Amino acid sequence: MTQSIDTRKIAPPAFGPAHLGEKILCYRPMKHGMPNLSIEQYKDKVIAHNYGHGGSGWTLGPGSARYVNSLLIDSLLGKDLSDKTTSIAIIGAGLVGLFTAYDLTKRGYKNLTIYAEKLDTLASHYAGGLLAPVSMDNDHEMQSIIDQIGIDAYRFYDDVARNNNIDFKQGARLVPSYFNSREDSGLEAYVGKVMEPAKEVMLDFGNGTTRQMVVYDDGIFMNTALLMAELHDFINTNHIPIVIGKINAFDELKEKFVFNCSGLGAAALNHDTALVPVQGHLIMLKNQVPENMNYMILVYFGEGKTEANQKVKRSFYIFPKHLPDSAPQDIGVIGGTFIEGGSPDKPNLAEYDSIIKEANTFFGFD
Ligand SMILES: Cc1cc2nc3c(=O)[nH]c(=O)nc-3n(C[C@H](O)[C@H](O)[C@H](O)COP(=O)(O)OP(=O)(O)OC[C@H]3O[C@@H](n4cnc5c(N)ncnc54)[C@H](O)[C@@H]3O)c2cc1C
Repeated sequence: MTQSIDTRKIAPPAFGPAHLGEKILCYRPMKHGMPNLSIEQYKDKVIAHNYGHGGSGWTLGPGSARYVNSLLIDSLLGKDLSDKTTSIAIIGAGLVGLFTAYDLTKRGYKNLTIYAEKLDTLASHYAGGLLAPVSMDNDHEMQSIIDQIGIDAYRFYDDVARNNNIDFKQGARLVPSYFNSREDSGLEAYVGKVMEPAKEVMLDFGNGTTRQMVVYDDGIFMNTALLMAELHDFINTNHIPIVIGKINAFDELKEKFVFNCSGLGAAALNHDTALVPVQGHLIMLKNQVPENMNYMILVYFGEGKTEANQKVKRSFYIFPKHLPDSAPQDIGVIGGTFIEGGSPDKPNLAEYDSIIKEANTFFGFD
């Protein structure tokens, strides 16, 4: 017996010049092998590393903070932390540093200081917002740890989305997530633990174009700009000081316990050559119909070369990102590039055109 599949109608967004907003270039901190989630004795200090999450910092963030914090607190190296007034330094005020501060505060630690070179316009603010463990390069034997961290993070966001978190009231919601295949989503390890199985569906864009895809109806959209604001609210309410400035060496800090959440900064700070920037291009959408923008899509295309002759993995994605102070109709973000080793002196601007072209092709406009 052949199984019929559901058809879902999606009204495509508009991609004309009046509907395209800010273009954003930013960099994922990707560590080959897996993110650095480890603790070490460094001279008279104890360093807990938490960096290198690639394109999945938000997907893993709350779980990864909890994992590294427990790793240190439950270890012999962390025995002085039984005193909750011990002074602790956190380097970095991206999502990883802020979730680290959040988790430590929830455990009762009262003497935290965040040190950060920059507070605004970070990768953590710009990130699209799809919960899916993608754009990492994890060794096979490490994958089960990453899966467990992701499942833990999913539970956190699911609580936020269902209004069961006392600190976060917005910033995460359940939104169907569409992919070409289950493998592409990276989410299969979550199924049966925190997520329902994906279903086959036919998307109908109402313009004669249909696409067969798989959907996780309990996908999670993280409104990254809003979550950063909520994290800062928590930091302010709990009077956690933030000291602005670059830390060039761990010895500069007076604290014995240091959480290294410096994202790409860890390449220099921790002399880590396995940590690489992965350039990404994003285009904010505007003048859309907000009610139509209630889904997330990620589809992969092949590899190619950019105008700077760099290798690019191309995809198309669209998420319902909405900046806290913008008009309701200015909703949505599209993107799709992954350029390992990318740098600001090679912005690869032609990639913006290819994202718009791929968006049009995907929705059947050409
Ligand atoms: C285009 C794009 C789309 C993305 N989409 C998604 C998505 O849909 N889902 C998802 O899960 N993830 C996504 N990501 C990934 C996510 O944004 C990153 O993994 C995440 O932001 C990394 O957070 P972080 O806190 O480690 O780094 P950052 O946000 O870069 O913060 C690093 C912090 O450390 C500070 N710092 C660095 N060096 C020093 C130093 N020496 N001294 C003092 N401070 C220092 C910086 O100033 C900053 O405060 C995306 C990323 C990009 C680029």
